[in-house]
Amino acid sequence: MTANPILAANLSAVRARVSAALRRAGRRDGEVTLVAVSKTQPADMVRVALAAGQREFGENRVQEAAAKFPALRAEYPDLRLHLVGPLQTNKAVDAVELFDVIQSLDRPKLAASLAGAMSKLQRRPDCYIQVNTGVEPQKAGIAPALLADFLRECRDRHGLPIVGLMCIPPLEQPPELHFAQLRDLARRHGLVRLSMGMSGDFEIAIAQGATDVRVGTAIFGQRVSATAKV
Ligand SMILES: *Cc1c(COP(=O)(O)O)cnc(C)c1O
Repeated sequence: MTANPILAANLSAVRARVSAALRRAGRRDGEVTLVAVSKTQPADMVRVALAAGQREFGENRVQEAAAKFPALRAEYPDLRLHLVGPLQTNKAVDAVELFDVIQSLDRPKLAASLAGAMSKLQRRPDCYIQVNTGVEPQKAGIAPALLADFLRECRDRHGLPIVGLMCIPPLEQPPELHFAQLRDLARRHGLVRLSMGMSGDFEIAIAQGATDVRVGTAIFGQRVSATAKV
């Protein structure tokens, strides 16, 4: 492992900003899980973060995570891996095998596939329902108006372990309204986890009640390419 003082410094700066945002919101330290989004980053960069004490990571592609994380998990058995990107139904078994948390559950067909994969593997990663708070046609996530029915289907029909909600607000709008909407939806449905906030807006998300922030570039630096090889 090559030393990487920049990454270690970025990580501690982000941790300090998370703590300060919690304090400003009158919340206790430790109430937010910092998920380091390591997509496109080589395994050695993840190792630097692990050496600096980071244990929660996010990836957006099953194949990339499968190439990087089994070896890292062997070295650090307590690491936790979150899927934060869209999941195809034909990758549900791989995802259930690899991930500890699936944050992108967004449609009935995927709920059925995940339930099948979980009973096959006897492994139950925590699931978050992704909500398309901006109702953007190109964006994944269930529309807020359909959440109640979808949640019922996930819980009652499939017995999925739904613990929270996740959103990615529209780029061109102030995020706080979307974060507040997600918080209210979670509260109404008795869900405790709220995954919201990225490098540009995680402090705003913490003020609105985030329990998980997903931070990539503020920790690892700019991604070279969305399709970089691992
Ligand atoms: C890439 C990604 C992030 C991290 O974004 P940054 O702006 O680099 O912090 C967070 N959430 C999801 C769903 C992502 O795909």
